[in-house]
Amino acid sequence: MPSLPSAPSQPPLLGRSQAELMHWVEQQGQPAYRGRQLHQWLYQKGARSLEEITVFPKQWRAELATLNLGRSELYHRAASPDGTVKFLLKLQDGQIIETVGIPTEKRLTVCVSSQVGCPMACDFCATGKGGFSRNLATHEIVDQVLTVQEDFQQRVSHIVFMGMGEPLLNLEAVLAAIGCFNQDLGIGQRSMTISTVGIPGQIRRLAAQQLQITLAVSLHASNQALRERLIPSARHYPIAALLEECRDYVGQTGRRVTFEYIVLSELNDGPEHAAELGQLLRGFQSHINLIPYNPIQEVEFKRPNRQRLQAFMQALKEQHLAVSVRQTRGLDRDAACGQLRASVLPQ
Ligand code: SAH
Repeated sequence: MPSLPSAPSQPPLLGRSQAELMHWVEQQGQPAYRGRQLHQWLYQKGARSLEEITVFPKQWRAELATLNLGRSELYHRAASPDGTVKFLLKLQDGQIIETVGIPTEKRLTVCVSSQVGCPMACDFCATGKGGFSRNLATHEIVDQVLTVQEDFQQRVSHIVFMGMGEPLLNLEAVLAAIGCFNQDLGIGQRSMTISTVGIPGQIRRLAAQQLQITLAVSLHASNQALRERLIPSARHYPIAALLEECRDYVGQTGRRVTFEYIVLSELNDGPEHAAELGQLLRGFQSHINLIPYNPIQEVEFKRPNRQRLQAFMQALKEQHLAVSVRQTRGLDRDAACGQLRASVLPQ
């Protein structure tokens, strides 16, 4: 499929605040209140072009009919029997990304991507196997949430940066998107989570923002050797240094950190690993979220059975660690954690 021309140098309107939109309409020779209308149509009514905004004067709409507001194109949609919906979105340069809508009784969570692909190449993750193309722009992150909101016809309540990509390698756009979710879509900071494998210095930068979001760190191993085996970038970032940044994060923000731990049967889920984790995290204001491994094609890791998972959880509790298990969603549509590779399943 041929690529479309690359995005224009002026950033699209999506992602801009109400004040910025008011400024923009004034530059176009329109009264400032039209900026408020534009804001409402962009973020609440899901306008995809200026032409659709029927409260605007006809002539102005016609003049700007081709203006790019910044919405991506829905390329494919796959619904899982558990209600999870995976969306493949086509960006303006033709690249494809994935986003996942996860409904529960009281929530609608969106799992957003922050990059096209991912450069981290973690051994257990499908996104990493596909390589890395580029960072997403703010509007491309915001669009994902609007897409899910429109499809479900329900307000998005929670956002997790757990889709494709490493959000701390695209911190500026991710922070701008968080600002937009908070200010323009009314989603509370406490309902947003950034998940990172850890990039030296970046957790400190995030801490300096003093946000009330949750930081989730993909630890996945109880010792350095095992972590390096699973996560190539761990070689340049020892667990001790990672945990020190996390401690500073807790100190600066007053928020506890979540440690994500992918459970790979018979590899990192033994009693010795529980003991090591107990040592590492003793006295740390944290919480361990166990993620049973979701199978991907390229590797031979094993998903733990219920008994093994329970035993590991129990061993962690005996180490006085706070622990929970992430419920698997979207597995049968390759929409679960680590399975996002921007591909369409055969139907
Ligand atoms: N780059 C970020 C976001 C990745 S996705 C990070 O590394 O945290 C969110 C979570 O899914 C991460 O903890 C990631 O390690 C985990 N994950 C990746 N592949 C997985 C798989 N096959 N099964 C279960 N979890 C996986």
